[in-house]
Amino acid sequence: DMAQQANLGYLRYMEGQDEQHLRQLTLARDLQEAAARQQLSLVYQPKIAAAGGELVSFEALMRWRHPELGFIAPDEFIALAERSGFIGRLTQWMLHTVCRQLADWQRQGQCVNVAINLSAQDVVDPGLPGMVRQALDEHGLDAGRLALEVTESAIIQDPTLARTMLGELCDSGLHIAIDDYGTGYSSLSQLKSLPVRELKIDKSFILKLDQQSDDRIIVRSTIELGHNLGLEVVAEGVETLASRELLTALGCDYLQGYLISRPLPAEQVLDWIDTYRRCKADT
Ligand code: C2E
Ligand code: MG
Ligand code: MG
Ligand code: MG
Repeated sequence: DMAQQANLGYLRYMEGQDEQHLRQLTLARDLQEAAARQQLSLVYQPKIAAAGGELVSFEALMRWRHPELGFIAPDEFIALAERSGFIGRLTQWMLHTVCRQLADWQRQGQCVNVAINLSAQDVVDPGLPGMVRQALDEHGLDAGRLALEVTESAIIQDPTLARTMLGELCDSGLHIAIDDYGTGYSSLSQLKSLPVRELKIDKSFILKLDQQSDDRIIVRSTIELGHNLGLEVVAEGVETLASRELLTALGCDYLQGYLISRPLPAEQVLDWIDTYRRCKADT
C-alpha cells in the first residue's frame, strides 16, 4: 500500500545518503595519505594576453588519482580537506611541488610564473605567509614568480584577517587575484581595501558568452569596473574563438581556457611553450 511504498522510497533515499556518506569517509581517510603515496599531481594551464596572445603565466591545478575510485575532482576533494581540517597539508605539498617545478624549469632555461589557488582556510591561516616564503627561499625563487588566487567567498568569511594575511603576502612581493569573481557576494568596498592586482571573471559568465547577451552585459561591466579600480581582468573558461574575439574587443586583459590549452601535465609544459611561441611567430 501507499505507506509501504513511501517507506521503501525513504529507505532507498537513506541508502543513497549512506553511500554518499561512505564515499566521503573513504575519501577523507585516503586523502590524508594521498601526497605520501604519490597520488597527487599538479597540472598547469596557460594564461595569455588577450591582445597579442603573449604567454603570461600558468595556473597550477591539483589532481588526485585514487587507486580504486579513479580521478576525483578538486571541487570535491578540496572541500573535503577543508571540512576535515587538513587542507593546510595539501597546500604545503602544492607550494613545495610548484616551487620545485619552477626551479627545475628555470634550470632548463624557462622562467615561468605560476598562480596557485588558496582555499578559504589557507587565507586565514597565520602560518601561510611564512610557509610561502619558506617554499620560495628553499628553491631560491623570487616572490614575483608566484601569484595567489583567492575566491571572494574565502575573503568574506573573515575580511579583517584575510586583509592582514594577504597584505603580508603582497608586501613580500606576491600578486593576488580574486578568483571566480561574480559568484560570491562581496561588496566592492571590501574588495577595494584588499591588495588585489587582478579580477578573474568566473567561467559561468564566459562559457556561453557568444550566445547569451545577459552574460555579455555582465562581463562588459565587470571589465569596466575592474579597470576603473585599477585592476587587470582575466576571463577563465574561454572555449570558443567567438568568445575570445568578444573578450578582446571588450578590453579584457588576459584569457584562459580550453581554446588556448587544457591544463597540462608538468612534463608537457616546456614543449607546449615551445610550440605555442613557434606557431605565434608564424602567424
Ligand atoms: P579555479 O581555480 O576557478 O580553476 C578553473 C577551473 O576551470 C579548473 O577546474 C579548470 O580545469 C577549469 N577550466 C579551465 N578552462 C576551462 C574551459 O575552457 N572550460 C571549462 N569548462 N573549464 C575550464 P579544476 O582543475 O577541476 O579545478 C576546480 C577548482 O578546484 C579550481 O577552480 C580551484 O578553485 C580548485 N583547486 C584546484 N587546484 C587547487 C589547489 O591546488 N588548491 C586549492 N585550494 N584549490 C584548488
Ligand atoms: Mg583559480
Ligand atoms: Mg576560477
Ligand atoms: Mg572555480
